[in-house]
Amino acid sequence: MKIELTKEQLNRQKEFREFADDAVVPYAAQNDREERLDPELIERVKERGYLGSMLPQEYGGMGWDWVTIGLLNEEIGRGCSSLRSLLTVHGMVALALLRWGSEEQRSRWLPKMAAGEVIGAFALTEPEVGSDAKNVQSVAAASDDNYVINGRKKWITMGQIADLYLIFAKCEGKPTAFLVERGTPGFSADPITGMLGARASMLAELHLADCIIPQENMVGSVGTGLSHVALHCLDYGRYTVACGCVGLGQACLEQSVRYSRQRKQFGKALRENQLIQKMITEMAVNVKAARLLCYHAGYLKDVMDPDSIMETWTAKYFASKMVNQAASDAVQIHGANGCSHDYPVERYMRDARINEIIEGTSQMHEMLIALHTIRQMQP
Ligand SMILES: Cc1cc2nc3c(=O)[nH]c(=O)nc-3n(C[C@H](O)[C@H](O)[C@H](O)COP(=O)(O)OP(=O)(O)OC[C@H]3O[C@@H](n4cnc5c(N)ncnc54)[C@H](O)[C@@H]3O)c2cc1C
Repeated sequence: MKIELTKEQLNRQKEFREFADDAVVPYAAQNDREERLDPELIERVKERGYLGSMLPQEYGGMGWDWVTIGLLNEEIGRGCSSLRSLLTVHGMVALALLRWGSEEQRSRWLPKMAAGEVIGAFALTEPEVGSDAKNVQSVAAASDDNYVINGRKKWITMGQIADLYLIFAKCEGKPTAFLVERGTPGFSADPITGMLGARASMLAELHLADCIIPQENMVGSVGTGLSHVALHCLDYGRYTVACGCVGLGQACLEQSVRYSRQRKQFGKALRENQLIQKMITEMAVNVKAARLLCYHAGYLKDVMDPDSIMETWTAKYFASKMVNQAASDAVQIHGANGCSHDYPVERYMRDARINEIIEGTSQMHEMLIALHTIRQMQP
């Protein structure tokens, strides 16, 4: 068996790396400080077609394979976790529509989403409901040809700037997905600031107060909100988060190697110290292992193997834990400098922390992977 990127994937990887080094890395600290993505940066991402990276060409997307999508998220994640979050949530909404949307919804929204004229946000979590998503408290009630939605959504990435929200609410007592456009009467988005990490993700709390939307804004059918719509988009979400963690882990490694070359203690460079070398070794090996899990998950998606879903859970679980250790060690290698804004590793550590919470916490992954493994091994 040979795991090797194709020539085209290698070319794309080079393009993504150059873009990240040129347009993303230099501005990540500023994004973090200002708690927003620079609109010019978003423009550059749009121009490159990256907001359509997950969509087929018939809708104006790039039509890339999953491994290439993973490479993009790895490189963007190496530069700025919040920008990678934009690709994640926007893509989740786009893919929900591609898979479960009506023909009318697809032709209306997908070309605009591919071009980045419309930004999507995924709104499942509520103040009182996180991991236990099937118990969402928001309610959608049928009224004539409309639905009236009432409820609140919290921690919604890009909620401050999105144009189109995929909202999950109980309809006839069952979780169901709906599209709500910014500007709909009764809808408002309050910014959430002061987060630990991914601080430029422009989170918002959404309020839906007698928010009336047309019947045709339901995505899928009554009761399929979690079992079909969210399941599908969360798979993409987990995949892109896992790949983003690989990129962030790579950034920790590169910065640690750079610093340990320059910094001298006891008359020699830190890198000559075997205890420092151990941390660098673990980082290098674990980043590589996480990358291979991501490549494998991407490959399985490309060949439409149903095991790709569990491989994605595995990749996300491993990569998000890996990056927390890598970022913590990167700070350790930097000593006090690592605790200051003078070096990026403190931001890496804060950003890393978020990844064990989003798209299913580590504990949810542990429960699911264990159940799946036990079931598979039954005689
Ligand atoms: C930066 C950021 C961005 C986000 N963006 C979005 C977004 O765009 N859209 C969106 O819908 N949500 C978003 N979220 C919310 C995120 O999806 C939730 O935080 C996540 O699902 C966990 O829910 P919770 O925070 O309510 O934790 P809870 O579900 O309350 O869990 C708290 C802790 O208990 C553990 N736990 C819960 N149940 C069990 C159990 N049965 N067994 C063992 N342990 C358990 C959890 O693993 C966790 O450690 C975002 C969150 C953050 C931090």
